[in-house]
Amino acid sequence: MNSPKRDVAVIGGGPAGLMAAETLAAQGLSVDVYERMPSLGRRFLMAGRGGLNLTHSESLTDFVARYGEARDPLGGILAAFDPQALRAWAEALGQDTFVGSSGRVFPRALKASPLLRAWLGRLDAAGVRFHLRHDWSGWGADGALRFATPAGEVEARPAATVLALGGASWPRLGATGAWADALRDVGAPLAPFAPANMGVLAQWSPDFTARFAGAPLKAVALTFGEQTIRGEALVAAYGLEGGGIYALSGDIRRALATGGQGQLRIDLRPDMRRGDLASRLIGGRAGDSLSNRLRKMLKLAPVEIGLLREAFGAGLPRSPVGLAEAIKAVPVSLTGVAGLDRAISSAGGLRFEGLDERLMVKARPSVFAAGEMLDWEAPTGGYLLQASFATGRAAALGAIDWLAERG
Ligand SMILES: Cc1cc2nc3c(=O)[nH]c(=O)nc-3n(C[C@H](O)[C@H](O)[C@H](O)COP(=O)(O)OP(=O)(O)OC[C@H]3O[C@@H](n4cnc5c(N)ncnc54)[C@H](O)[C@@H]3O)c2cc1C
Repeated sequence: MNSPKRDVAVIGGGPAGLMAAETLAAQGLSVDVYERMPSLGRRFLMAGRGGLNLTHSESLTDFVARYGEARDPLGGILAAFDPQALRAWAEALGQDTFVGSSGRVFPRALKASPLLRAWLGRLDAAGVRFHLRHDWSGWGADGALRFATPAGEVEARPAATVLALGGASWPRLGATGAWADALRDVGAPLAPFAPANMGVLAQWSPDFTARFAGAPLKAVALTFGEQTIRGEALVAAYGLEGGGIYALSGDIRRALATGGQGQLRIDLRPDMRRGDLASRLIGGRAGDSLSNRLRKMLKLAPVEIGLLREAFGAGLPRSPVGLAEAIKAVPVSLTGVAGLDRAISSAGGLRFEGLDERLMVKARPSVFAAGEMLDWEAPTGGYLLQASFATGRAAALGAIDWLAERG
């Protein structure tokens, strides 16, 4: 029988929690994973729908820089479980990986389900016990973990706990951020949740939305303030979404929150100079309509022509030079950012100042925390999963270390 002193509870069955469970079990600890949903890794599976961008192949220095202000506390943790280690781990679970365009790393299967299945099999074989439909509601007066379950309230008194409860985006997949109350009650410092990697709101005309919602703006350059991102945007009924927009969304959120201007500029042909665009347009047939000229001479897609008309209305220039200028900088007025319910990730959460170097919650010794519930923010590109895995491992190692110190 395991000594009760080596029992660890992991709360949250996403990438961070499962990685913590694997690390703990590998050291011979007795591990119970508690998850409020009826199944594990729902958000991980959802990430798999987009191909499962596990990590990124750029240098570790560039990689760590993506975490902005959190690069200091996360740097060592990411170095200890870096993108190479994550790829090796996936490959050991039978999921070969490859480097896709722009350096992103994906499993060859381009989905999460085979990886999750193999991983759960490994955890099961290591003796990890899973308790589904166990919704952690905080600590009782005597320090016990309390869970609401379909069979009523359940308590647990592990020697250590790893919290891996996720952030507050896409709450229907399990992570609601409701855990913040229990941590606030014990005095842990929290940063308010905010959407991250989310779409932006624009007031399209009903006609534009009806015709183009869902249409991609491919290989465009998006500029907000001083920052320009090359990538893709998708027209949504509420505004714009997609990788290029997500990359700018943090800056846009901050600018709008402080009363700044919400003006996005879209360069529909970033690889062509204004002069070249204008010369091509001059070569058009005199009798052609404007749309036909744009389509034939510049191969503009219907959504791109629609966007030009939406943005400039009757003021859309007719001259080749004026049109070329418009194509290089289509203005879109942003009225806000999409909410937490559809954001890819969330900013805010448990502040690093409330954690020690082992990721133990200072206000609650024996409790460690990992994953997106910590206060870091990163773009899409594999950074979210990499940090979730790496902090899950680090929190588990922290717990192992702490338990060993106490004998
Ligand atoms: C549509 C979409 C696509 C994405 N694509 C990518 C991608 O390609 N690459 C990438 O790097 N990242 C991607 N992400 C982000 C990535 O999925 C998350 O960053 C990652 O899942 C965070 O892991 P986590 O373990 O910290 O949290 P989560 O995966 O959210 O897991 C937390 C778990 O804790 C459980 N939980 C919460 N509260 C309680 C409670 N009180 N009691 C018990 N259990 C609880 C939740 O049910 C959940 O299962 C995507 C996210 C979305 C929504």
